[in-house]
Amino acid sequence: MQTHFSLAQLADPDTREADKILRACVHCGFCTATCPTYVLLGDELDSPRGRIYLMKDMLENNRPASAQVAKHIDRCLSCLSCMTTCPSGVNYMHLVDQARHRIETTFKRPLAERWLRGLLALVLPRPWLFRPALLAAWLTRPLARVLPGRLGTLAALAPKRLPSPSTVDRPQVFPAEGARRKRVALLTGCAQQVVAPQINEATVRLLTRHGCEVVVARGAGCCGGLTHHMGRDSLSFAKANIDAWTREAAAGGLDAIVINTSGCGVTIKDYGYMLRSDGAYAKQAAQVSALAKDVSELMTELVLNAPTVTTGRRVAYHSACSLQHGQQIRGAPQALLAKAGFTVVEPPEAHLCCGSAGTYNMLQPEIAGRLRARKVANIESTSPEIVAAGNVGCITQIAGGTDVPVVHTVELLDWATGGPMPAALARL
Ligand code: SF4
Ligand code: SF4
Repeated sequence: MQTHFSLAQLADPDTREADKILRACVHCGFCTATCPTYVLLGDELDSPRGRIYLMKDMLENNRPASAQVAKHIDRCLSCLSCMTTCPSGVNYMHLVDQARHRIETTFKRPLAERWLRGLLALVLPRPWLFRPALLAAWLTRPLARVLPGRLGTLAALAPKRLPSPSTVDRPQVFPAEGARRKRVALLTGCAQQVVAPQINEATVRLLTRHGCEVVVARGAGCCGGLTHHMGRDSLSFAKANIDAWTREAAAGGLDAIVINTSGCGVTIKDYGYMLRSDGAYAKQAAQVSALAKDVSELMTELVLNAPTVTTGRRVAYHSACSLQHGQQIRGAPQALLAKAGFTVVEPPEAHLCCGSAGTYNMLQPEIAGRLRARKVANIESTSPEIVAAGNVGCITQIAGGTDVPVVHTVELLDWATGGPMPAALARL
């Protein structure tokens, strides 16, 4: 694609990067076929190619974002399915991240939208705020159908059960069982520890059982991904994590930073890029990104122990977009589940997003609801007893649309190798 940036514009490193990305696009449109919003809405402006044209026009002409740009970029899930499909290697992620930031800083949204976005950006990354907010949403859950607009959407998304905080998420060190093979830091994250603390608990049991000393580093928290995808500040979160893990690496060494929420994995693996121009952080950020591993990558390296119980259940594996497209991790979780004794089935249209996408299901509930219905129908067509996924957002989203229990992959691996049966499976 030809671009027309001036030399003055190209002096800016972000514009240079956008120029490079835009030039790689050859308008072939292969990406449209696998884009969930184009598949649903059939509008070229809701396809990756259409959005690339909108972003090009905005950036080249140095314009503030228009209502049209905001509408179609807001509808993008950042699922990155288009990057998997693109034969030209167009880095849509870095382009849309830049566009979202421009929208956030130059476009004035309606008041209710600004209020909702501000609230989500403030509350979700901070467990001490999210926990009471979730309690309020849970109390209003029975009224979800009658509450007006977004309030009803938020109430409906509250989980059926509110778990207690887990002690696992506090800063501490869990010793390896037997001889220590690796020393790893675990990202305990933000929203996940509030809605599904059993995931970190299962991860710690699984990793220590396989010879890892697991560190929950003081000062580490939200990866910044939630606010990054809203075009807001994410670097303060990134820097806090980089400081915490760099201190930990200096004190005792780190073989990996383990992430069990694949959406966060995409962001942490991108810290090196996000902070590439920051003199004080660029090197450490790149080191942190290089150490980041999804838990399924680490477990593949460690080699899963033989199962200690007969699991034998039929598991539909839902491949989170952030794992299959964002991190290009495809077969590892399925292979681990099969090794643990489960019969793994992959539902049709596995490349399509479930509609969760960070805060997307709260900001675009209509499209998210349609994507969930489609995903659940595809999953249920395989007649599973259990659904497994590697991202808490997908787990919450899918669980809201089906009676089949939905759990994290690590909960099943932990159960198979000596841990407790996941509570969600008690009724099986
Ligand atoms: S990130 Fe997903 S929703 Fe956005 S343009 Fe690409 S395929 Fe479509
Ligand atoms: S597949 Fe890649 S090169 Fe083709 S239109 Fe989409 S982004 Fe551009």
